[in-house]
Amino acid sequence: MKAFLLDIDGTTLLGPDALPGAIDFVTWLRAEGIPHLWLTNNTSMSRGAWLARLAAAGLDPRPEEIYTAGDATIDHLTALDPAPRVHLVGTEDLRRDFERAGIALAEDDADMLVLGYDTELTYDKIRRAALPLQDGVTFLATHPDATCPTPAGPIPDVGSFLAMFETACGRTATVIGKPEATMAAGALGRLGASAAEACMVGDRLATDIRMANRAGLASCLVLTGVTTREALATSEDEPTHVFDGLEDVHAWAREVASA
Ligand SMILES: [Mg+2]
Repeated sequence: MKAFLLDIDGTTLLGPDALPGAIDFVTWLRAEGIPHLWLTNNTSMSRGAWLARLAAAGLDPRPEEIYTAGDATIDHLTALDPAPRVHLVGTEDLRRDFERAGIALAEDDADMLVLGYDTELTYDKIRRAALPLQDGVTFLATHPDATCPTPAGPIPDVGSFLAMFETACGRTATVIGKPEATMAAGALGRLGASAAEACMVGDRLATDIRMANRAGLASCLVLTGVTTREALATSEDEPTHVFDGLEDVHAWAREVASA
């Protein structure tokens, strides 16, 4: 394996804390010169906020090691059009990420409308997005998740907003984040690795493992997050490897590296 894509919640972190083996595994990847990216669909937080969260857990992340569905959306839309005018429905954090990438944000005469996980969504933003959608503007969504897990229970995420715009405007979006292969392609592009050289490590079958399968990557399912062995037994999404957690992924990766 020449590169690793790592999920964050349920794989690297549980709440604010690093899961067992996470710090040792990342330290080993650095020592071996094996690049990795942390992938997240959550676009309500900026790259800087994710960096702070991983750093607080003791993981010493570098800015270039975070790849959000917002970054994947930026890579995708700049491949479509190198200088697009983008109407972004998203948080101030996401706006900053787009502006830092040199994307021109504008609502008048926009070439495309991008829907992110906007935890600052208002009816006025919904209204202003619905009008260009009815006129046929290119429509992208950063990720498909219908809900976002929180300690109090699941709350509406981009997928739920998409259902609203589909009802109101009859439009479906091109979706970028996990499990779409677009997210894996963007991440591999950043790492300079091919699908055959990379491995996705994650805790969710329908996102992490499905993306790996769609993009032709090897995958490691870890059982430290949402997936149980019972759920795995009846899943259509089959991981290449199954491990109890990152300690075992690390042991396997060491063995593969020394073979
Ligand atoms: Mg996860």
